[in-house]
Amino acid sequence: MKPVIIIGYGPAGITAGIYLKRNNINAMIIGKDLGALDGYTDLVENYYGFEQPIPGKDLIAQGVEQAKHMGIQVVTDSVISLKEIEGGFEVATAKHKYEAKTVLLATGKTRTTINKPGFIKYRGKGISMCATCDGYFYRRKKIAVVGCGAYMLHELEYLSRMSPDVTIFTDGNILEDEVTHKVVTEPIVSFIGTDKVTHIETTNGQYEVDGIFIALGTPSSVEFASQLGVIVEKNNLLVNDQYETNIPGLFAAGDIIGGKLQIAKAVYDGMMVADSIYQYLRKK
Ligand SMILES: Cc1cc2nc3c(=O)[nH]c(=O)nc-3n(C[C@H](O)[C@H](O)[C@H](O)COP(=O)(O)OP(=O)(O)OC[C@H]3O[C@@H](n4cnc5c(N)ncnc54)[C@H](O)[C@@H]3O)c2cc1C
Repeated sequence: MKPVIIIGYGPAGITAGIYLKRNNINAMIIGKDLGALDGYTDLVENYYGFEQPIPGKDLIAQGVEQAKHMGIQVVTDSVISLKEIEGGFEVATAKHKYEAKTVLLATGKTRTTINKPGFIKYRGKGISMCATCDGYFYRRKKIAVVGCGAYMLHELEYLSRMSPDVTIFTDGNILEDEVTHKVVTEPIVSFIGTDKVTHIETTNGQYEVDGIFIALGTPSSVEFASQLGVIVEKNNLLVNDQYETNIPGLFAAGDIIGGKLQIAKAVYDGMMVADSIYQYLRKK
């Protein structure tokens, strides 16, 4: 039985693997892709240590290579089930089953994109998937946030600090006392622009915008964990101060536990959870 299996090789999972290795614990890390920044060629410019902004996917890929270089076992595969067994957990992919005393869920959050004309064309050109990353560029500008539910409200809270002019485009039920913003409920038809997005077209007309933030959260990895009976609150896995879920030996870190959805925070979580896992294994 392995001491630790880490599911996810984004910043949280890789950092945890590195800090565990420094404590002489060899984790196995399984990831299916580069996570939130998979295929994201736009530049990350708010992470420490890069003089020049770095394409998101390159930053994550370098983290994976760093772990491999340190001798950490990194496997590319999709975990399809996780269950408790005597003394730990069984982690299954389509072809393999692995056993471990502890599991770290560092599976990130799935951000749902929007399948409307113009989305692909203007993603990164006025359409953003992350308020904390790009909201700053739209200070005092005309902002639209598209979505509903807890994730949209999270993004709205941040964007409202950047501009007084934020409109919600939603097909969900937004309670009037929940927000004080303009709300547009007619369906979006397309995103229109020139070299960058300038308007949202709905079935009722066109709305001028400077920046659009998509916040259609359906975090499938949270659902995956909740099948095990992990307590979920507002689409985040609930963990204690040691990053442990309500199931002993099952830890979680990074975007999946909520808070700032940022690389720096995921890296911090990864470092902290490694220490907790180390302490847990010592007591076993
Ligand atoms: C478009 C976009 C732009 C962003 N720009 C910035 C930015 O400029 N600066 C910044 O700080 N942050 C940015 N972020 C946020 C940042 O990417 C995340 O906060 C960070 O990647 C979270 O790290 P994580 O390790 O928790 O999860 P992720 O990086 O999402 O990694 C999750 C990992 O879990 C794996 N996984 C999930 N489910 C399974 C499964 N069933 N089996 C196996 N593996 C699985 C994935 O393959 C992946 O390896 C951006 C996010 C997006 C979407």
